[in-house]
Amino acid sequence: MKPRTDGAKARAARRAPPDVAARPAGARDAGTALPDIDGSRLLASLETLGRIGALDGGGVCRLALTDEDKAGRDWVVERMRELGLRITIDGIGNVIGVYPGDEDVAPVMTGSHIDTVRTGGLYDGNYGVLAGLEVLRVLREAGVRGRKPIAVAFFTNEEGARFAPDMMGSLVFQGGLGLDEALATRGIDGSTVGENLERIGYRGSAPVGAAAVDSYVELHIEQGPVLDLEGISIGAVESVQGISWTEFTVLGVSNHAGTTPMRLRRDAGLVAARIACFARELANGIGGDQVATVGAVNLFPNLVNVIPNRAVFTVDLRNTDGETLQRAEQRLRRFADEAAAAEGVSLSRRALARFDPVRFDPDLVALVERSATALGLRTRRMPSGAGHDAQMLARICPAAMIFVPSVDGLSHNVREHTAPGDLVAGARVLLRVLAQLAECPPFSGNR
Ligand SMILES: [Zn+2]
Repeated sequence: MKPRTDGAKARAARRAPPDVAARPAGARDAGTALPDIDGSRLLASLETLGRIGALDGGGVCRLALTDEDKAGRDWVVERMRELGLRITIDGIGNVIGVYPGDEDVAPVMTGSHIDTVRTGGLYDGNYGVLAGLEVLRVLREAGVRGRKPIAVAFFTNEEGARFAPDMMGSLVFQGGLGLDEALATRGIDGSTVGENLERIGYRGSAPVGAAAVDSYVELHIEQGPVLDLEGISIGAVESVQGISWTEFTVLGVSNHAGTTPMRLRRDAGLVAARIACFARELANGIGGDQVATVGAVNLFPNLVNVIPNRAVFTVDLRNTDGETLQRAEQRLRRFADEAAAAEGVSLSRRALARFDPVRFDPDLVALVERSATALGLRTRRMPSGAGHDAQMLARICPAAMIFVPSVDGLSHNVREHTAPGDLVAGARVLLRVLAQLAECPPFSGNR
């Protein structure tokens, strides 16, 4: 199967309302008293933010806490100001804008991130933040308020491309990482998170994570091929894969490639290669959602005629099931030890990241599904293959995600694209979900 052809066919078959980007704000969603998303305005805002840090030839680079990130943040904060939101910036630079409700209770929250990888697209993260603001804009224009406030947040350093770990802002927000430790984190250029937050003026005074959150729903592009291949507009995300990243270091002995008999070699490169092959067999054997990737390999001295004395490489294992992921880690560990012993080399490992799988709130997932169906959109339940801020928020409140298709499954790529009709459809689903959670009319009787 050629995914591209199938994706194109599926896209053509996907039902898109003909007026998808054309309806003005204030138009009513048929069957409810809700105002409708202004599709053109949403798309224009994505284009405008995409011009900040734009790369020649397409795509965008706004690594966390750089000047480009600051310019992107300033632009989004300005949009929040225009909407009259109550804006808070916390100690790790998370920015939250709140649209008031009739009661002063914990807000329903949506949001995502606006930092990007070095060769990012326009929609990863940015879409969730700007669609959230578009929802607040149409509610405000129509004079609709819920019982509960609605907040739009963008979290610091979701991508982790400059500072590890990724999802840092939301991790600190929910208490999984101390603020001081996060601020002291050194990035790829040697400077710390704290120094850069000060430098760009986003080390805020609001206490981190002090405010309670009623519920959290994040709208995001899928960043994978499933919805595009199947011609489905909306994914109701049930879970996020658990992630296990390990760095292995193998120490052998360098020697002459011509004079050293095979039986006398202690080849670090061979052991790395055997473990890489095993990772693939392991994932194939387990099947289901299990994936395994050896993405970085360094051999030393890395010369054509020298047996490598050192190999440093990474293994990335992911699964939606926590126990299966643990078993995969154990089997990989056992194989690595055996492979090292057989070659007479030493092996050490270092955990780079470890996140358990997350199951989203079943009632919220069902609400996403119902909201999409009510709008006449095709929907399916699915796991997320990538990590998201929503998995951090899931530790402190009911959470879920809404996915829209990524053309050819591309993301973290300047060619990342989602059809305009799908972007608008996702925002419409977000509007219904947030309105219902916040108990806006016509959902105010649902308490
Ligand atoms: Zn993202």
